[in-house]
Amino acid sequence: MTEELSPTQRGKILIVDDTPDNLRLLTGNLTHHGYEVQCAISGALALMGAKANPPDVILLDIKMPEMDGFQVCQQLKQERATCDIPVIFLSALDSGFDKLRAFQVGGVDYITKPFQMEEVVARIENQLSLQRARAEILSLNAELEQRVEERTHALAQLNIHLQASEERFRRVANAAPVLIWMAEPDGQRSFVNQRWLDFTGCSLPQLLGNQWMEQIHPEDLPRFRQVYETAIAQHQSFVAEYRLRDAHHTYRWVLGTGVPLMDEGQEFAGLIGCCVDIHDRKQTEDQLLHNALHDNLTNLPNRTLLMERLKLSLSRAGRYDGFYFAVLFLDLDRFKLVNDSLGHLVGDQLLVAIAFRLNQIIRPTDLLARLGGDEFVILLDDIENAQEAVQVATRILESLQTPFTLESREVFISTSIGIVLSSPDYCDGAELLRDADTAMYRAKSQGKSRYEIFNPVMHQEVLKRLHLESDLRQALKQGEFVLCYQPILSLSTGTLMGFEALVRWQHPQRNMVFPDEFIPIAEETGLIVPLGHWVLGEACRQIAQWQTQFSTQVAPELPLRVSVNLSVKQLQESGLLSFIDEILAQHGLSGNCLTLEITESMLIDNSETVIALLHELRSRSINIDIDDFGTGYSSLGYLRHLPIHALKIDRTFTQTLSLNADIVRAIIALGHALNMDVVAEGIETPDQRALLQTLSCEYGQGYHLGKPLQAQEMALALAALLPQ
Ligand code: C2E
Ligand code: CA
Ligand code: CA
Repeated sequence: MTEELSPTQRGKILIVDDTPDNLRLLTGNLTHHGYEVQCAISGALALMGAKANPPDVILLDIKMPEMDGFQVCQQLKQERATCDIPVIFLSALDSGFDKLRAFQVGGVDYITKPFQMEEVVARIENQLSLQRARAEILSLNAELEQRVEERTHALAQLNIHLQASEERFRRVANAAPVLIWMAEPDGQRSFVNQRWLDFTGCSLPQLLGNQWMEQIHPEDLPRFRQVYETAIAQHQSFVAEYRLRDAHHTYRWVLGTGVPLMDEGQEFAGLIGCCVDIHDRKQTEDQLLHNALHDNLTNLPNRTLLMERLKLSLSRAGRYDGFYFAVLFLDLDRFKLVNDSLGHLVGDQLLVAIAFRLNQIIRPTDLLARLGGDEFVILLDDIENAQEAVQVATRILESLQTPFTLESREVFISTSIGIVLSSPDYCDGAELLRDADTAMYRAKSQGKSRYEIFNPVMHQEVLKRLHLESDLRQALKQGEFVLCYQPILSLSTGTLMGFEALVRWQHPQRNMVFPDEFIPIAEETGLIVPLGHWVLGEACRQIAQWQTQFSTQVAPELPLRVSVNLSVKQLQESGLLSFIDEILAQHGLSGNCLTLEITESMLIDNSETVIALLHELRSRSINIDIDDFGTGYSSLGYLRHLPIHALKIDRTFTQTLSLNADIVRAIIALGHALNMDVVAEGIETPDQRALLQTLSCEYGQGYHLGKPLQAQEMALALAALLPQ
């Protein structure tokens, strides 16, 4: 192995000795051992040589002139280039003191002369291997240091990068128009952006951990908690809408989302998410939904919502044995009158006030809906028995006894109520409403301001009514109507003044049908207009015929008149005046042969067009009488300004004359004060006639004076009645 290495690789050795023999001996031996050898004969030369070409080991003699070995070593140790070179002292002086001094000045070993060559080589080798090990350690160290430095650098770079990216995140997060948050894997919130602070007006600690949930609306909290906790437990995303309390302590709707955060090792590291204020959108949505299900005047549930609730109640009734419910159908009585006389604005106020009052009567679990117009429906959920529904209906009727004050006016209104009770026969809400409506109609026809409970017989009546309606159209086409004429006499002289034309329906399968049964239907369906035209035409034709027939008996200055009942629909029809003109012309009649009977309610409207029409009629000498006077809602003021000829006292007053003489006297006095004549209807007894005569009532009409008869019969009666 010794041979394989070159002398330089083996080691470079500087021998310093002032004794040339020693130099020669050592050089020879060490060269022989394969070392590269340099020699120096003095300390000064040694220093120069070592500096110029640093050896691996120096063998240094102590005893030399000028500069001894200790001084040389000291200097070597002071020089940067030579300070690390191991120095082995060579000396004949074998004293402890010299050895100590040799080590003190930086020597590493000490060889005593005379020396054995093997010892010298062993000590040199020892130093060389130490040297090599040291060099290796040094280089390793350097390498390590290099690595450490690289790492430190990289870490510093990373840190700068991280800090920059965190700063960027914070900036973006704080500038974002949404609320941003982060939570730890246990769900505890660890970060919220500035927006959270601004939005909630809370301090940071209030928004971290779990405490921030106190800002959530109590109604939304359980639902949110569940969604959030599931997302945490299952490391998944979530979306939730909930209300969050803002800085003004009002709750606003927000849309909250969260997504899981994963670290480099794909481990769950928490959630990150944001919240967007969706309050306005949500409110619009809610408003739209509310509008779709509520009536915008009263803000009550509308038909759609009612039908939904009925469906629910029906299904509950189907599932649970003892679950009953009732539907109350309300239709205000004579609401149209209020609307027409006081205006739509007051009508609307009244509906709102009624809605409020009704809501006070029912329980919070019941439902009050408005179907439109003056129709309301109450769903009484979960009642014990029918009696409960009746109690509610009674309470409603009672509560409406108190008038409403609208625009500093007292307004009275009543309602008719139809009640239907749940039964297994019903399978859909529309059937319930249909039957409640039928019962309500029944209540109306039984005198209004009352309730009726539906029974199946009523359903039959409705069907009958439906048939009647279609039959009525048919009847008009087929000419199944006839007129009866009832005489109107002067009570003082008994002179025949004229007739009232009363329509009858000669039904092909039934007996004579009276107008009370079909006129309301004709009015509702609009059939009254063509029917009324026919009546007018027929009555005029008949009276014209009688004029000619009995011309000698009837004074020309006092022609026979025919009174024709007018429906409100006819009065509102624009072509009425020209139609009347045409009819009169057609039969060669003048206006003073015709009287038109209208009711008070038709006048309350008092519209310009109706007043103008009445004046037009009056200018043609056509009389206008107020029919059924005393039964309607009279505001007497309006009568003074209208061209009315006579008041017809309603037959109910005549029939209760002995009890109501004061009222009848007052009506007659009123008519006279307004320059009007008075006609008493429904005179059935001589006493009634006599009493009315004493009360100065001008004219009379009634079974006692003459029953309504068809034209031929009346002609016969007339022939007998009139002076020959
Ligand atoms: P109205 O105008 O009050 O007619 C008087 C009603 O009293 C008639 O009933 C008549 O038959 C009845 N009557 C006459 N004298 C007596 C009496 O002494 N005692 C009793 N209890 N009743 C008496 P009717 O013919 O059944 O007519 C009922 C209602 O039908 C009429 O009441 C009128 O409002 C309406 N009406 C009749 N014909 C027409 C018509 O052509 N057009 C319109 N629009 N309505 C009509
Ligand atoms: Ca009449
Ligand atoms: Ca009447």
